[in-house]
Amino acid sequence: MKPATKFIHAGSHPDPSTGAIMTPIYQTSTYVQEAPGVNKGYEYARSQNPTRKALEEALAEIEEGKFGLAFGSGVAATDAVMKLLKPGDEVIAANDMYGGTYRLFSKIYEKFGIVFHYVDMGNVKHIEDCINSNTKLIWAETPTNPLMNIVDIKAVSIISKNHNLILCVDNTFASPALQNPLPLGADIVMHSATKYLGGHSDVIQGALIMNDQLLRDELYFIQKSCGAVPGPMDCFLVLRGIKTLGIRMERHSQNGAAIAQYLRTNPAVKKVYWPGFTDHPGHEIAKAQMKDFGGMISFELHDDSIETARTLLSSTKLFALAESLGGVESLINHPASMTHASIPREERIKNGLSDTLIRLSVGIEDADDLIEDLAKAIRVATTS
Ligand SMILES: *Cc1c(COP(=O)(O)O)cnc(C)c1O
Repeated sequence: MKPATKFIHAGSHPDPSTGAIMTPIYQTSTYVQEAPGVNKGYEYARSQNPTRKALEEALAEIEEGKFGLAFGSGVAATDAVMKLLKPGDEVIAANDMYGGTYRLFSKIYEKFGIVFHYVDMGNVKHIEDCINSNTKLIWAETPTNPLMNIVDIKAVSIISKNHNLILCVDNTFASPALQNPLPLGADIVMHSATKYLGGHSDVIQGALIMNDQLLRDELYFIQKSCGAVPGPMDCFLVLRGIKTLGIRMERHSQNGAAIAQYLRTNPAVKKVYWPGFTDHPGHEIAKAQMKDFGGMISFELHDDSIETARTLLSSTKLFALAESLGGVESLINHPASMTHASIPREERIKNGLSDTLIRLSVGIEDADDLIEDLAKAIRVATTS
């Protein structure tokens, strides 16, 4: 089945009791048993819920995996992966990744005795250099948030397999419409379904997708034992979002390309971070492992005063100043004070995330309107 068809039909079966074409929101906590221990496969809604089951099936199909598991948020999904580990285990993660992942690792899991190495994954040799007999997990994100660095999933997966490690890829930025890490060799794909999967900025949710039955069983055990499950209404919203994922990502990518190119021609702009540029260091890998480059772009102005960046951030009319990404509407964000404020400044700067970097989540509005909005805001900021 071609992806465009898959996004519409994945996980959908007419409801057996009524024929309802859309999976109902099974807003229930428990299920009546015919006799003690005799049930229809549903006992208690932390363990099983039909709306969640439909979504988990859809997630598996669209990521080309066998199993999907849905969580109450993206970080809850990441947290479940971390619970596969025990004290003394070591993790190799990227030095440029979502701030909340870094916070979970450094502020929660370090104190339980997990050891983290943060490396520049642009060169996979850096990963190999950190591997020892305690290494258990590689945590990769590509494209990275917010610097749009590209990690070669296939190359990392070869190292991971050679050393018997688990490779988990945060695929939030690309979405399953643009990149599928499992066929490239990853063991687990993680999503913040809050972003492109939901697609409408109206839900918080996370997901894990995998192929290995044992890994699935372990993660399902963690899901039900620790309880970070999403409610049925939220599962319904993400199921609905997935139906338009293919067509939304096409438009996000077209608009992203138009805006990246526009920004590059604006003389006030110093640098644009977007993997679609042929001179982006990860361009060839991105071209090979992604179907398109998506709608996430970061940039810096020549004028490196914080005040100028602040004025720009408050001067757009269509781009709303907000954290998050992946919705149909365009957002503008200041990583240093917003999404990545949990990373110490020194760490941030060392990894290339400046105080004045601006990140865009380009929506699916008309590209000309978006460009006009940015052009005005840049003019206001650089001439005031
Ligand atoms: C938002 C985000 C997360 C965390 O997901 P939540 O749904 O906010 O918990 C993880 N990774 C990336 C890349 C994100 O953008």
